Amino acid sequence: MKVMVLKEKNTPFVMEERPDPKAGPGEAVARVLACGSGLTIHHARAGRAEVDYPVIIGHEVLGEIVEIGQGVAGLSIGDPVTMHCYLTCGHCRWCRTDREALCENLAGFAGRNSDGGYAEYIKMPARNYVPIPEGLDYKAHPAETAVICDAIVTPDKVTRRARIAPLETVAVFGAGGGVGIHMVMLAKWAHARVIAIDTVGAKLGKCRDLGAEAVVDASKENVAEALAEFTGGRGLDVAVDFVGIPATLETAVGALGKGGRLVTLSGNTPDPFSVSAGRLLWGELEILGSRSFTKQEIRDSLELVARGELWPFVTETYKLEEAEKVHERLEAGLITGRAAIVMD
Ligand SMILES: [Zn+2]
Repeated sequence: MKVMVLKEKNTPFVMEERPDPKAGPGEAVARVLACGSGLTIHHARAGRAEVDYPVIIGHEVLGEIVEIGQGVAGLSIGDPVTMHCYLTCGHCRWCRTDREALCENLAGFAGRNSDGGYAEYIKMPARNYVPIPEGLDYKAHPAETAVICDAIVTPDKVTRRARIAPLETVAVFGAGGGVGIHMVMLAKWAHARVIAIDTVGAKLGKCRDLGAEAVVDASKENVAEALAEFTGGRGLDVAVDFVGIPATLETAVGALGKGGRLVTLSGNTPDPFSVSAGRLLWGELEILGSRSFTKQEIRDSLELVARGELWPFVTETYKLEEAEKVHERLEAGLITGRAAIVMD
C-alpha cells in the first residue's frame, strides 16, 4: 500500500510503498477513503506533540472494512466506519463507565503511537471502529464524513458538558480554528447566542456566516468590553476556550456571569491561570476540562449529521501525495474550517 510516513519531527512526509496491514486477533483492517487534516495532527507533523517515529499520522478516518481478525464480533466486510483514535484498554473503570478518554491504561493514540490514516489501509483494534449510519451518504461526501469523528464530536461533547441551553450566551475563544468554527455551529444549533473571538479577522467572517451573532477581533478590539456589551453587562453563560494561555483563560473566566461555565479544550501550555475562590463561590462558577469524547458520542454526532441537523465545514481536499502541501497551509494558519485527504 501507499503511505505517507513521518520519519522524524518537523521533516517532510515521505511517500513509501509498504505491505498491506494484516488483522491480528481482535483487530480489523479498513481501506481508507478519507482522512481529516487538522491542527491536532499537524502538531505531530510539526514536532509539537509526542510521537513514536516513524509514524503514519491521521486520526479522522473514514474507511470500509476489508479484513477482520479472530474473535471480532459486530463488524462485517464492506462496513463503512469511522474511528475513535484513543488506544484504550476497554476494561478499566473509565472504559467501563463510558469515559474512555480517561482510560487508566491508555496506550496512546492512533496516528501518533500507532499508524493512522495517511495510508491506503489502516489497522485498528476492532472496538475502535464506529459504524457510519445508513442515512449518511459517505461515498458522496467522504471528507465531510471523515472529520465528524473529531471536528463535530468535540464541540458536540462541549455542548453537553457545559449544558448549553437555548438563548444562553456562549463565547468561543479561538473560534477561527478547525474545531472552534464547528463549536460556533454546534452552539448555534443548540439555540444559544454565540460570540466568536479570534485574532484572524478573515476567519471571523466565516464564523458569522456559520451562526455567530457577533464577532471580536482580539488583535484589534478589547475582548472584555466586547463581551460585556454582548451580554448587556450580565456576563456570559458559557466560555469555550481553544487557546489555553493564561491571559485568554483569565479573560474568559472574568467575563462569566452568575452560574457561568468555562470549558477548556487546550492542554498546550503548562502555565496556570488564576481566578479567586470568591468569584467561584459568589457566582457559582464552574471550570471544566473537556477531553476528547467517547465512541457513543461519535455515534451521536454521526447521527446528527445523518439527520441533517448540521454539516461539517470542509473547505479544502487533497490527494494523499499532497499531504505536505496541506500541512504547509495548516502551519501558516491559512485553512478555514477543516481540510482533508481524499483517496483516489
Ligand atoms: Zn481503560
